[in-house]
Amino acid sequence: MSHPTGTPGHAASIHTLPSYLDPQHLGPWGIYLQQVDRVTPYLGHLARWVETLKRPKRALIVDVPIELDNGTIAHFEGYRVQHNTSRGPGKGGVRFHQDVTLSEVMALSAWMSIKNAAVNVPYGGAKGGIRVDPKKLSMGELERLTRRYTSEIGIIIGPSKDIPAPDVNTNGQIMAWMMDTYSMNVGSTATGVVTGKPVDLGGSLGRVEATGRGVFTVGVEAAKLTGLPIEGARLAVQGFGNVGGTAAKLFADAGAKVVAVQDHTGTIFNGKGLDVPALLAHVQARGGVGGFAGADTLSNDEFWAVDCEILIPAALEGQITQDNAGKIKAKMVIEGANGPTTPEADDILHDKGVLVLPDVIANAGGVTVSYFEWVQDFSSFFWSEDEINARLVRIMQEAFAGVWHVAQEHKVSLRTATFIVACQRILHAREMRGLYP
Ligand code: NAD
Repeated sequence: MSHPTGTPGHAASIHTLPSYLDPQHLGPWGIYLQQVDRVTPYLGHLARWVETLKRPKRALIVDVPIELDNGTIAHFEGYRVQHNTSRGPGKGGVRFHQDVTLSEVMALSAWMSIKNAAVNVPYGGAKGGIRVDPKKLSMGELERLTRRYTSEIGIIIGPSKDIPAPDVNTNGQIMAWMMDTYSMNVGSTATGVVTGKPVDLGGSLGRVEATGRGVFTVGVEAAKLTGLPIEGARLAVQGFGNVGGTAAKLFADAGAKVVAVQDHTGTIFNGKGLDVPALLAHVQARGGVGGFAGADTLSNDEFWAVDCEILIPAALEGQITQDNAGKIKAKMVIEGANGPTTPEADDILHDKGVLVLPDVIANAGGVTVSYFEWVQDFSSFFWSEDEINARLVRIMQEAFAGVWHVAQEHKVSLRTATFIVACQRILHAREMRGLYP
C-alpha cells in the first residue's frame, strides 16, 4: 500500500501559509521574495531547500518602554529578526527610524544573509530596529531606549548567536551602550556582542571607511573588466556621508572627477570636478554639501540626468525609480546604499545596458570589516589598518570575480548572479547540516 507521507500532495495539504508569504503582502519583503523566485531555477538540487530562504528563522517583536525626561512613560516597538543561521551566527545592523516595520526588518535581515554569504564571511543574516524618531529624544532618553531594547532582545543575541551593528541613525556610541548593557546582564565584558564599536572599546581600525572602500574596490574591478578607465571618469554621488564621502574620496584619489553630489541639503555640480577634500571639510563643518563655494547648484531632479560614467547612490532606499531611471547617463551604477534601485528601475537600467553593481556585493565591505572586528575581539589581538584594508580588498576582489563569472556563465545580471552564489552557499550549508530532529 502506498503511503501518502512525503508526497507533494500531502505536503501541500498540511502546509499553512505564514502571513508574510501572503501574495498580497508586498513591500520590501515582497521584493526579496521575488528575488528568491528569480534565482530558484539556477539552484539545481538545492531548490528542494529554497523554502528555507522564504521564512525568517526567528522574529522577535519587543515592547520598549522608557521614562521620558518629563516623567511620562513612552512605549516603542522594537524588532530583531534572524533570517538564517545555517552558515553561522546572525549578523546585521540596528535601525532607529520612525518608519521601520517588521516587513522592512525581515527584508533587511534576508539581504544580510545574502550579503554575508556573497563575501563568504561565516555569518547568517539578521537585522533589528525600533520605530522611533531618535532626533526627538534627548541623549538620556536615547541611552535608556537603547539599553531597554538591548535587554529585551538579549534573549536571542550574543557573540556566538547574533551580533548587531550600526545602521541608519545608530552609531558607535549606541553600540557602546548595547555592549555595556549586554555585558552587565551576562556578568562579564562581552565586546564581541556588537561590531562598529569605538576603537577604544574593541572596535576595529578601518571600519568607518570600510563600506566606501568596498564600493571603490568593486567599482575598479568592474571598470577593468568592462574597459572603463577610472582616470578621468566622471562620477555622480548621492549621499556624502560615511559611504558616499569615502567612495568619492577614493575615486578622486585614483584620478576620477566627482562632478555632482546630492545630499539632504541640495545638489551641487562642477563639470571640471569638485575639490573632494574641500567638500568633505565643508560637510564636516556645515552638515551638508549645500552652500559649497566651488560649484553650481542643480535641482534635485537634474542630478539623475548629469553626464557621467559612474553613478553611486549612497543615501537611501528606493531612489532610482521608473521615473528617473530612463534619464541616467552613467555606464555603471554602484549601489552603496541598501536597496536604492526599485525592481522596475532595475529592468529599465538593464534594458539600457547600464551595468548595476548590486548592494548585496557592492556595500559588503562594512560587514567584512565587522567580521574582522569580531575576530579581533575574540583573540584580543588587534591588526594594523594596512593589514585590515589589504584583507578587505582581497575578499571583495575574490567575491566580485566569483559573481562576475556566474553572471557570464548564466547570462544574468550581477544582482541575480550574487543571489545565485549566496543562495547556493546558504542552502548547501542547510543541506549538509540536515534537519533537526
Ligand atoms: P550617513 O548617515 O553617513 O550618510 C547618509 C547620506 O545620505 C548623507 O550625506 C545625507 O545627507 C544623505 N541623504 C539623506 N537623505 C537624503 C535625501 N533625501 N536625498 C539625498 N541625500 C540624502 O549614512 P551611511 O552610513 O553613509 O549610509 C548610506 C547608505 O549606505 C544607507 O542606505 C545604509 O544602509 C547603507 N550602508 C551603509 C553601511 C555602513 O557601513 N555605513 C554599510 C552598508 C550599507
